[in-house]
Amino acid sequence: MPGFEVFGEEEKREILEVLETGVLFRYEFADKRKGVYKVAEFEKRFAEQCGAKYAQAVSSGTAALRVALAAMGISPGDEVITQGFTFVATWEAILESGAVPVFTEVDETLCMDVEDLEKKITPRTRAIIPVHMLGAPAHIDKIVAIGEKHGIPIIEDTAQACGGTFNDRGLGTFGTIGIFSFDPVKTITTGEGGMIVTDDETIYQNCSEYHDHGHDHNPKLERGLEGRRFIGFNYRMGELQGAIGLAQLARLKGMIAAQKKHKKAIRQALEELNNVTFRKLPDPAGDTATFLAFFLPDGDAARRFNEVLRKENAGAIYFKENTWHFYPKWEHLLGGLTLSRTGWPFKEREQGQDLRYMPDDLPRSKAIFERLLVYPIPVKMSKDRLETIISAIRKAGSRDGVAS
Ligand SMILES: *Cc1c(COP(=O)(O)O)cnc(C)c1O
Repeated sequence: MPGFEVFGEEEKREILEVLETGVLFRYEFADKRKGVYKVAEFEKRFAEQCGAKYAQAVSSGTAALRVALAAMGISPGDEVITQGFTFVATWEAILESGAVPVFTEVDETLCMDVEDLEKKITPRTRAIIPVHMLGAPAHIDKIVAIGEKHGIPIIEDTAQACGGTFNDRGLGTFGTIGIFSFDPVKTITTGEGGMIVTDDETIYQNCSEYHDHGHDHNPKLERGLEGRRFIGFNYRMGELQGAIGLAQLARLKGMIAAQKKHKKAIRQALEELNNVTFRKLPDPAGDTATFLAFFLPDGDAARRFNEVLRKENAGAIYFKENTWHFYPKWEHLLGGLTLSRTGWPFKEREQGQDLRYMPDDLPRSKAIFERLLVYPIPVKMSKDRLETIISAIRKAGSRDGVAS
């Protein structure tokens, strides 16, 4: 999970090109900018990289979700289905658009449980947001097929899987819209930033105008004279972010290759243990290898195993206790805690009916997370660090009696 790990001369050179023009804004100032349009160039290269027709840069991954939902016309009272294992941003954006998040279980892919998705569809469902969690693809072919069967569009949350593929096709290009994040812990980073990709020209136009106060971006008119088709908001990306994005994008393939190498080395040590199994990957070749997820037989074994890893300075993430990514730990959602004066949408939703999210709503996910441990995989890893991790794994395996 690089982002912050890799930052160098190329990023500095790109930033300097912007500073030499003094134009930090992505639009207008044609006479001052010496032909430098970093955000526009970043969009073009990003679309090429993932194989999409259009790309729209925005101020964050969360903004990308919000703009995507707006571009699809999502409205108050609509239901949008996502999964109970994701970053809070996914359902925050649904709530921000006035819609109601509905959560599915995840299966051992750690992504959307396809069977549960079918069960959660209602006449009110207006979009489905599967999340390619921890760097690897979901069963996106099956999810898209279910969406098509019911006439419901898919927004792929690809914030954590930039550069990933499924059957050699770029993640983010299967749904009607794909969104990406460039925050400091994502695979490529611009400090803050996000991207929306789509092949649908109308959706792209909606994104382009909505994210910029409704400006219709008529190329024949000066900015102040442009028309408006609808009310928008401001989710723009600035030129400095665009410049950094260009330098980071050029590193993407190399970073994924390095992660794959490190992941393989750690995985080999785990494969020596009898009772360790691995996260199911619908297409292992399309994994960006930002994380290595593995299972112990039960919760006790997982916690004991991790205790040894921690003592050996090589602790893994126990997502069951993570408050930002896993449904039962979202106390503010479960409590309906909102600044909204009326308590909407939790209270006063309609005819006095409250919306309640219950902690035990996703029992199958909970059972999976009991047993799950996850290593973040760095781009840069010294031989010493790798040896520390491997010897910690061997120790944990033998102490637990699970080694072969
Ligand atoms: C990081 C992330 C986001 C939000 O991106 P930001 O750029 O931090 O706003 C959305 N969804 C998922 C799954 C993420 O991990």
